[in-house]
Amino acid sequence: MSAVVCVTCGATVGDTGDRDLVEAMAAHECPPSTVYLLHFLEPIGNPDNPRAMAQHYIGWSPTPAQRIAKHTAGNGAAIMRAVQARGIGFEIAITWPGGRDLERRLKRWHKARQLCPICRDGLVLDATPGGAS
Ligand SMILES: [Zn+2]
Ligand SMILES: [Zn+2]
Repeated sequence: MSAVVCVTCGATVGDTGDRDLVEAMAAHECPPSTVYLLHFLEPIGNPDNPRAMAQHYIGWSPTPAQRIAKHTAGNGAAIMRAVQARGIGFEIAITWPGGRDLERRLKRWHKARQLCPICRDGLVLDATPGGAS
């Protein structure tokens, strides 16, 4: 017997030994969850890809505030531990209603920079012609 976990929200729905597992799965409703984009104040070497720099982290959670607090404590993903170890701050750039599926889609897209309002603001500023002088 082992726990049966909802593929969408990660919640434990029941156990493989439960006789009413099918009903439990049918009755299960995923809690609303949030996908968030964290923007690091400085780019950092990406532990998942040593040749690349990363400045964003996409995660999701039914309880994003608690999850992000864990990131702040240096727990969780390797890249967030590296960010904390180096004393680099981060901001919550944007959040979307969604769960694991949306997180995976956004990660696969590899366009965090274009999703990030902080980076987009920077690009807009860079494109502003001339300075007042
Ligand atoms: Zn679920
Ligand atoms: Zn950004």
